[in-house]
Amino acid sequence: MRRTIFDEDHDAFRESCRTFVDRTLRPHQEKHIGNHELGREVWLELGKQGFLGLNVPEEYGGAGVDDLRFSLILAEELSRLAFAYSSCVGIHTNCVAPYLVDLCTEEQRQRWLPTFCTGELITALAMTEASGGSDLAALKSRAVADGEDWILNGSKTFITNGACADLVLVAARTNPERGAKGITLFAVQADMPGFERGRKLDKVGQPEADTSELFFDDVRVPPGNVIGEVDHGFIYMMQRLVAERIGSAVNNIAHARQILDETLDYVKERKAFGTPIGSFQANKFTLAELQTLAEVTQAYVDQCMVAAVDGTLTAVDAAKAKWWSAQAQNDILDACVQLWGGYGYMNEYRVARAWADARVSKIWAGSNEIMKELIGRDLGL
Ligand SMILES: Cc1cc2nc3c(=O)[nH]c(=O)nc-3n(C[C@H](O)[C@H](O)[C@H](O)COP(=O)(O)OP(=O)(O)OC[C@H]3O[C@@H](n4cnc5c(N)ncnc54)[C@H](O)[C@@H]3O)c2cc1C
Repeated sequence: MRRTIFDEDHDAFRESCRTFVDRTLRPHQEKHIGNHELGREVWLELGKQGFLGLNVPEEYGGAGVDDLRFSLILAEELSRLAFAYSSCVGIHTNCVAPYLVDLCTEEQRQRWLPTFCTGELITALAMTEASGGSDLAALKSRAVADGEDWILNGSKTFITNGACADLVLVAARTNPERGAKGITLFAVQADMPGFERGRKLDKVGQPEADTSELFFDDVRVPPGNVIGEVDHGFIYMMQRLVAERIGSAVNNIAHARQILDETLDYVKERKAFGTPIGSFQANKFTLAELQTLAEVTQAYVDQCMVAAVDGTLTAVDAAKAKWWSAQAQNDILDACVQLWGGYGYMNEYRVARAWADARVSKIWAGSNEIMKELIGRDLGL
């Protein structure tokens, strides 16, 4: 089914994203896998091409594009190469950017956004702690006022871009009495004494992504590094999770559709019993179901994307898009592995990597269970 939510400008932008992926990422993917990170040169090139500041106002070095579709097109094209690329870049462009643009003071914007756009300042968003990620309001990292400064203690885990980030937005408890209403966001700079990174975590998939533990031991954070108002961090995070979740949904389905296309080519070539495996009725029906699932999912995600552009996307609809697309992605990729037979289980095949890369989409940015919890609550249950 033809997608109807893009115009010629979007199509031209998609072409430039594809060129970037083919020239700058694809030839170096094995290096990114080996290093478990993209490397500064990729970030600088992303910045040079103008991809990092799409939704940042022009006066701070961005493109000032008031149309989320451009960021999401970039995310789709990155996902089509490998899920980790859209994860790493998306945290910076789709997750962190809105905090810096919407909540920062003029001085903070001037300080961070120009280098955010060039790729000289890589960012991360640190909410999850070892004691739990789903129940964000229960986080334990603590910041205590010391004169005008704050002294930050605690740790975070599973943080995308954690090892390479120059600036990390950290959620910490500033008012223990007030639960969710006692959490504040702090911008922690890489060179602040007491800020340490743990090892790059050994993940099942997405080897190109750096995912790390972070430790804060008496980190002195000046008042100029508080994001927004003290004790308002939780509501800021909730407000921005809608954009994060539609971003996830877009990546999920783009990733699955790319591998499904590659699998369709494969089943026409690969023979068993003298016949292309795709023409056995069992496989033909499977592929018919997968293609239908992919297109129907895409239609819903596209509608959500349009709603996100005009500001009407609800948290509940974003939750539906996120869990459904994650489930569809995992179902599609699991069936694709089956169709590739033994090769589908070999890491040198894209389908195997994609299958492993995708598993986390049902867990992160709000697990499928948490998404259903939100939807259930909206049903009055
Ligand atoms: C590769 C990767 C990258 C990540 N990147 C980041 C990042 O950049 N920044 C960041 O802050 N976090 C990041 N995360 C963390 C991620 O968001 C959390 O893992 C996620 O929110 C789940 O938290 P948890 O792992 O502590 O699981 P838990 O919260 O312990 O949940 C465990 C299980 O219990 C279920 N569960 C929990 N509560 C309920 C409930 N009420 N009803 C039903 N089931 C429930 C969950 O769905 C899950 O299946 C990343 C994680 C991974 C794996």
